[in-house]
Amino acid sequence: MTTGPVSYDIVVIGGGASGLMFSASLDMRGRRGAVLEKTGRTGTKLLMSGGGRCNITHGGMIRDFVSAYGESGPALRKCLYRHSNQELAGWLEDHGITLADEKGALVDSSFIEDAGRVFPASMKASDVLNVLLDQAALNRWEIRRESDVYDLVPPSPDCTSWKVLTSHGVILADNVVIASGGITFPETGSDGSMLEIVRRLGAEVTEPRSALAPVYVEDYPYGELSGISLPDVTAVVYRQNRGRSGKSKPVRMTGDLLFTHRGFSGPVILNVSGYTEPGGLLRIQYRREFSELPRRMQKILEKRSAGPSGDVRTKALAAMLENDDFTVISADGNGMATAGGISLGGIDTSTMQIRNLPGLYAVGEVIDACGITGGYNLQMCWSTARTASDALSG
Ligand SMILES: Cc1cc2nc3c(=O)[nH]c(=O)nc-3n(C[C@H](O)[C@H](O)[C@H](O)COP(=O)(O)OP(=O)(O)OC[C@H]3O[C@@H](n4cnc5c(N)ncnc54)[C@H](O)[C@@H]3O)c2cc1C
Repeated sequence: MTTGPVSYDIVVIGGGASGLMFSASLDMRGRRGAVLEKTGRTGTKLLMSGGGRCNITHGGMIRDFVSAYGESGPALRKCLYRHSNQELAGWLEDHGITLADEKGALVDSSFIEDAGRVFPASMKASDVLNVLLDQAALNRWEIRRESDVYDLVPPSPDCTSWKVLTSHGVILADNVVIASGGITFPETGSDGSMLEIVRRLGAEVTEPRSALAPVYVEDYPYGELSGISLPDVTAVVYRQNRGRSGKSKPVRMTGDLLFTHRGFSGPVILNVSGYTEPGGLLRIQYRREFSELPRRMQKILEKRSAGPSGDVRTKALAAMLENDDFTVISADGNGMATAGGISLGGIDTSTMQIRNLPGLYAVGEVIDACGITGGYNLQMCWSTARTASDALSG
């Protein structure tokens, strides 16, 4: 006897934070749903987040979140407002997760305005993962590990369902939610393989690149300052490749700069890293007097601004202090997030459905939305996953 392909109402591709937030939000009693995860594990990046402590969201009014996602922010506004940081905090509390700020002070979900970075009070990402897995199980989701999706075939007159081609055979699904993450740390399973598939289906994909990463530059002079951090530094990224509008505004952010052996790091660099491109210009503005810099750095700057006879050229030194310019080699390939992905212009953000591909949805890091550090990326996973779960609530 031959059996046909197994059928589901909804299939989720990816058992990371966003795929699990989606399934933890959607009760499938009376329907059939499966999460297909290519590796043998779930939530691998979630477990790495915040150094294992999981900076799950950020305090503040949700309207202030929009700018944290750069050019993608306005398109995300609807999702963020509908499913906010306050809602996420309340949901976690209802599921037994007490929250705390970075210093461990307890945070009340109904008033998280001034909390800054928000964590589970246990400081254990595994507690968050366990709640998501428990709730997904209560919602009757099957989690199928080691199920690698290698292609998708849209519905046709012959077959009115999506065909999901997996390492274990064909699965039919009325709706498919892509939650396959970005491209960094590919050993976690997030290798960008689904982006090629959706591109072939006609969805617009912005080239993915590593973000929230240290940046390497040509002739980096500060290796010996490794470990030294300077607060309140501005980093400006000038982009060569122009956007579709033909214009490319420099991206400017201010925050802590960290020198490493190989390149620049620290929050200000992580936050601009997704905008850098090889050959582009990274400008560092130290925003302080020469005398306020660490002595070792003063010596390096003096050496770099010295003339052929070794004398310090004060004008060159002042100019360097104001605008220390470097040519970008690249951002480190293993950033904490991915910039680029399925373009938001091609997604209806009131449902997260990919336009022109009915029944196909995208949530989390696979979409072209990347937040700054501070819990904004997991919040984006939550807001987009919940928006899709509203749309598919049946
Ligand atoms: C070191 C580190 C620290 C971080 N810290 C924070 C933090 O503190 N706060 C914060 O907000 N964000 C943080 N982030 C970012 C955050 O963890 C991610 O944005 C988030 O986990 C993305 O979730 P996701 O479900 O969209 O993707 P992922 O977590 O990447 O999950 C995608 C899943 O899809 C699976 N998959 C991929 N392709 C297929 C396929 N073809 N078939 C089947 N399955 C597939 C993958 O195996 C993977 O399990 C951090 C990231 C890193 C790497």
